This record gives sequence, C-alpha cells and structure tokens, in this order.
Amino acid sequence: MSQPIKKVCVIGAGTMGAGIAAQVANAGVPVLLLDIVPKESGNRNAVAEGAVAKMLKTEPAPFMSKAAAKLVETGNIEDHLEKIAECDWVIEAVIERLDIKQGLYAKLEAVKREGTAVSSNTSTIPLAQLVDGRSEAFRRDFLITHFFNPPRYMRLLEIVTGPDTDAGVAAKVEQFADVAMGKTVVKAKDTPGFIANRIGTYWIQLGLNAAFDQGLSVELADAVAGKPMGVPKTGIFGLVDLVGIDLMPHLQASLTSTLPKDDPYHAIARSHPLIEKMIADGYIGRKGKGGFYRLNKEMSRRKEAIDLATGEYRETIRAAGPSGKAARGDLRALVETKGPIGEYAWAVLGGTLAYAASLIPSAADDVVAIDDAMKLGYNWKAGPFEMIDKLGAAWLAQRLESEGKPVPEILKVAGDRPFYRIENGVRQALALNGTYGDIKRPQGVLSLADVKLAGKPLLKNASAALWDIGDGVTALEFTGKMNALDGEVMKLIVEAIPLVASKYKALVVYTDADNFSAGANLGLAIFAVNIAAWSEIEKLVAGGQMAYKGLKYAPFPVVGAPAGMALGGGCEILLHCDAIQAHAELYMGLVECGVGLVPGWGGNGELLDRWQSNPMMPKGPMPAVAKVFETVSTASVSKSAAQAKEMLFLRADDAITMNRDRLLYDAKQKALSLVEGYKPREAPHFRLPGESGRTALSMAAEGFHKQGKATDYDMVVSDALATVLTGGEADLVDVVSEQELLKLEREAFMRLVRSPRSIARVEHMLETGKPLRN
Ligand code: NAD
Repeated sequence: MSQPIKKVCVIGAGTMGAGIAAQVANAGVPVLLLDIVPKESGNRNAVAEGAVAKMLKTEPAPFMSKAAAKLVETGNIEDHLEKIAECDWVIEAVIERLDIKQGLYAKLEAVKREGTAVSSNTSTIPLAQLVDGRSEAFRRDFLITHFFNPPRYMRLLEIVTGPDTDAGVAAKVEQFADVAMGKTVVKAKDTPGFIANRIGTYWIQLGLNAAFDQGLSVELADAVAGKPMGVPKTGIFGLVDLVGIDLMPHLQASLTSTLPKDDPYHAIARSHPLIEKMIADGYIGRKGKGGFYRLNKEMSRRKEAIDLATGEYRETIRAAGPSGKAARGDLRALVETKGPIGEYAWAVLGGTLAYAASLIPSAADDVVAIDDAMKLGYNWKAGPFEMIDKLGAAWLAQRLESEGKPVPEILKVAGDRPFYRIENGVRQALALNGTYGDIKRPQGVLSLADVKLAGKPLLKNASAALWDIGDGVTALEFTGKMNALDGEVMKLIVEAIPLVASKYKALVVYTDADNFSAGANLGLAIFAVNIAAWSEIEKLVAGGQMAYKGLKYAPFPVVGAPAGMALGGGCEILLHCDAIQAHAELYMGLVECGVGLVPGWGGNGELLDRWQSNPMMPKGPMPAVAKVFETVSTASVSKSAAQAKEMLFLRADDAITMNRDRLLYDAKQKALSLVEGYKPREAPHFRLPGESGRTALSMAAEGFHKQGKATDYDMVVSDALATVLTGGEADLVDVVSEQELLKLEREAFMRLVRSPRSIARVEHMLETGKPLRN
C-alpha cells in the first residue's frame, strides 16, 4: 500500500469541502483547505478563511473542539497548489461543474506526487467523465468519495472506483475514511446518483406525486411516509423543506439526463406547477421564506402548511395517520390499510422497494450495501431489503405482478426466502446467485448485536445484562427504556463483580444503542416520591453509590465505552471506570441540578478527584472545587468526546474512537491492555475549603442570580451542591474521605428530592423532556 494518510488537502471550501476538512481535523490530522482567490477582497485566502470562521459559529458544530480548528491551514488554488505535494489525499469538493473539475485536475496532475490519492465529492458526475483526458498515472490515483451533509454527523461515505483505480490507493482512502474519519464505507458502482441519492430521490418523487394525485394534505403524507415506515418523522415534504425545494429540479434534471433510457425514474420524474411557483417566489424551504411548512411570523409564529390543491398556507392540522400495528412498524398492515393511508403507503413504499431491488447488481453488488446506504445516508431505521423482509419478498413480488409491474430479478431469486437470516449465530445475506453468505465485519468491528446472535447472556434482569464478548472480556449492557438506570441495574452490577472476578479478565460498560444512558429512571423516582417512599429512595441512592464504587475497586479493569448521551447517572458510572474509550460523538454531563437535584451516585467526588489531580490546577483546595461547581451547577454537557476531555470528564489517557462501529472492539482492547499487573486506584482524599469556600461559591452563584440567569430555586440547589463540594456544614474542613463525601452527597440529594420545586422540575422533565426554570 502506498504511504498512509498523514495530511489531507480539501479543495473547495463550500458547504461540503469545509465540513469535510473539519472532520479530517476532528480526526487530529492536519488539513489544507483551498478555494479560489476572490475578485474583490485584498485577502487572497478570504474564501477558505471565511469558511473556517463561519464553521466556528455554526450549530450543530462542524468542529469537535477548538484544537481541531487549529489543524486547518487555509489558502488558495493560485498561490498554494504546490503544497499538495505534502499531502497524501486531495479531496475535490468544488462546485458541481464538469469543466471546472476537469480544469482543476489538469492543474493537480502537474504538482501532485505519484500515489497521492485524488477523489471527487461529486454527487452526479460519472467517474469516467471526470478523468477524461488525464494520464494513466492520474487515473490510478483517482476515485470518487461521496460524503453526506453535514460531513461530521452523517456516517455514510459512498466510494466509487474506476477501472484504472489502484486497489492500494482505494484501500488507503477507505481505511482512513473509516478509522480516522469515522465513516461507514459503502462501495457503489459508477452509476448516476450512486446508491442513496438514487433511491432517495426516487422515494421523494413518488411521495410528492402520490400526495398531489391523491389530494392528500402534506401532514397526512408525512404522517404515513415517516415514522410508521421507520423513516425520520419529517417524512417527505418535511425533508424536502430541510434540504431545499430548489434542489429538486436540479436533481431531477441531472438524473433524467444521465440515467439509462429504460430506468423507471423517467416514468415518475414530473414537475408540479405548485412546486415551480414556490421556487420562483422564494418559498424554497427552511433556508427561504418557508416551504411546505412554515412558521407565520405575522401570526405569532403560527405553524402553517401549504394546501397542495390551492397553494395557500393554512394552520397545520393534526392528520389522523396510521393507527394500531400500521403505526408501529408493521409494514404489511400499513400498506394494506384501507383508504388513502394504505394507498399512499403502497404507492411510496411499494414503488421504492421495487426500484431499490432493481438496482442489484447495476448500482450495488449486494443487499447490504443498499441497506447500509439508506440507513446511514437517509437515517432510515431499516434498509429497503430489511423492509422487504418485513413485507415478505414473495408477497411483494406477487403484488407487483398482480398490478402488472415488473418483478425485479432479486425478488424472483429470493422466492419465499428472506434476504437476511441467522445461521449458526452469524447473520447472512442472500446474493443474486441465490446463496446466502456471512455478512463480514471489517477487522476491528464488533457489536453486541453480533455477540447476542451467538449466545446467551451471563446475567440478565429487566434493566441490564452481562455478556461474554470473548478473550476473557465481559460487557455490561443497560437494557431498560432509553437505557435508564434503576435498582435492577445496580443489582446486576453487584452480581457481576464476583462473577467477572472469578472467571474473566475485564469488564466493558457498553450498549449498542445510540445513547449510552440519559441517567436515572426519573419515572420510577417520581413514583416513589408520590407515595413518600423516602427510605426506598435513600436505598436507591446508597445502593447506586455502592455498586459504582464496587466497580471502581473491583479486582479487574473496567472500561466505559459511551456513545451519544451519557447524562446524570450515566455519566457517573463512567467516572468510576478505570478508563474510558469514548465515541467521538459523546454528550456527557452531570445534569442533575437541571432537575433540582445533585449528583447522588458518587459523581461529585469522581469529578473533584479528576480536577484535584490535574497538574494544571493552581495550589489549594478552592480552584478544583470551583471548577466542579461551575460544571455541575450549570448542568454543562460536552458537545463531543474532545470537549469531554477538556471538561475532565475524560482523563488525558482516555481514548476516542471515531467510527461508532469500532467502539466496542477498541474498548475491549483497552480493557485487555490494562489486565496485566492491574491494581484498582487508591481511594482519594479530598482537601476541601469548608465554610469559607461555600461562601465564595454562593457569591459567584449570586452574581448569576442578579443577572437573571439563575432563579431563586437555582440558588437553593446550587447551595446544596456547594455544601457537598466544600465539605459540609462544618466550619473548618481539611481532609474528607471518599465515604464522607458520599454521605454528604446522599444527604443533599435527600433534602432536595423532598422539595416540591425539585419534584416539579422532575415531573416537567418527564412530561416535556425540557428543564423547568422554577
Ligand atoms: P458550494 O457551492 O457550497 O461550494 C463550492 C465551493 O467551490 C465554493 O466555495 C467555490 O468558491 C468553490 N470553487 C468553485 N470553483 C473552484 C475552483 N476552480 N477551485 C477551487 N474552488 C472552487 O458546493 P457544495 O454543496 O459544497 O458542493 C461541492 C461538491 O460536493 C459538489 O460536487 C456537490 O455536488 C457535492 N456534494 C454536495 C452535497 C451537499 O449536500 N451540498 C452533498 C454531497 C456532495
């Protein structure tokens, strides 16, 4: 393989190029970002510099940390093109024009090193046209890498290679995109729209057509072709609003001009006069004056939708969408629902699935590629072939046939067999030749879902389970709704410790879910509060403290492997681990104050210990206490794992995995690396400032109160927190043991949980998912 990728150049600092450059920087790799020299500005790098400055203000943030932003070097294609000699991969993301792209490649050819990969982010232009006129050496290094917007958050990367692309060059790019940039690579053929946009555009077009033809409201259409299909609840009209209605004619023109004459897309590609008018009048979706939906600012932000028949806006209606099984993912029930709901569902889903099935092998080699593309590129819960399995391939084929529509070859091959099956604990997929083959995971990819296919849990109860993940390592998984933590989780931890100690080497705390855990089961807590079961609540608090400390002092290494949200009690269990292997997208924080409580499962002491032992901290007990107070009283949550490190939720030697699919494997390796000579940490002693410290913290909080940033009750909660962090009510505190701090934490928690205003906060959070500022 040619030289590994140590530096990247991105040319074109627009929406995609800038975002791609940020994701390279997020991986800790230096990146050169070039764009054209602007006509007016005196600053020749203004375009690329402006793109970086804009990204620093964008939400959701393209950069994972400020340090990442510093890895982007900006420049322009006239003065700095020769710098690509320092780069191992050049990503072209300039505007979608063949002449401009070809002109750029001609210039690149003159300055690039042999073996430096060049890829285009084109959405529509065939690879063969892009490299037309280039040397054989250039063609060997060339491929298409199609990222999705926004590049940090969308996991799909479609890669297309040409007949001349060197396998080593493609493998180098694929490896970097996967491991360093965290993308799931799907290999697509050199066909128009590749996989995801080809199917996605077809699906959208069917959805628009059927809604107009059937005279449906946009609300009803989206209520059908949204959640019930396992598709984001924006549905089709909401999605078009989001990406921009003005994009639709471009996509249509590009696909109609490039797809083969016999492609079914030609028969459905239609323009609708209302949509043309909306674009002409600037109603192009969220980025314009409004779209199919809008907030009417003149009518106190009333939510409105457009009437497809009249073109007038009206107040949104609550459409009576699918119900019963049809609403809960039973696709057969959905498409067989009598009336407009079933008709619309069948028109959209039946058509899309048949089209997707017809694309093997022309656009993709196998069903897994198509399913991955739609799940990761369009956030569908299930891919087209997984959906066909729900309907039944034979049922779908029969219905298509009965309507006189062509039945795709792969449906005939499947007959009455599913596309996916489990054989000897391994998931297999059906190929076009009629045989099943194991779905191979790349080296370094591991999931609990795969582990579960092959065996039974070592321990299991209603809220947690313990699995053997091989090589002497176990995994503790939360299984309750939203991975909420409760007494059952704590019970399982207590049972797991002696089992792991006697028969295994290490433990990883991990779940396959999008979010690690949003914390304690508040519903259960509020139930106990309502029947005034105070001793039960105190038991739950003390039991959690004991379970987490049990993990901390267990005679084997424990590695936390969080992804997504790790809040409250979910954050606290991680703070007790020997090490953390975090997914880069980690939203971690002690958010208890937001619901009128303080962390009760040992989180205060663990975070304090991290700040006290940080070599950067000034001397004396107060600076660390003040830092923890600031983080916890404001319920601060990291916006990435890199930021969690800055907040000391992660220790300096905790590691970050960019690719979500690699997290469990990496955590397992980390755990194994800690086994030899493992000794649990020693219990910390805290030097706390006592009463004077508490006064100082109160004064700081009072400042926020005076500015109106904190409510009266925030002051009560932050005082309870300050009491814990400074060592309690005693006047003169010096050294406080871990156990004493836990006692203070319990006492503060129990005081607050009895207060009606804390209870109101918890209830509000349960009902609305948002904090109550009482
Ligand atoms: P954009 O219009 O936001 O940015 C294009 C950038 O290219 C601009 O900053 C422009 O100044 C620059 N540019 C133009 N000519 C140049 C040249 N000769 N040399 C260097 N820079 C030049 O476009 P975008 O949405 O970022 O799209 C870029 C590419 O990515 C296109 O090929 C597009 O099809 C593809 N793409 C876009 C998306 C998306 O959602 N926007 C998704 C996937 C792929």
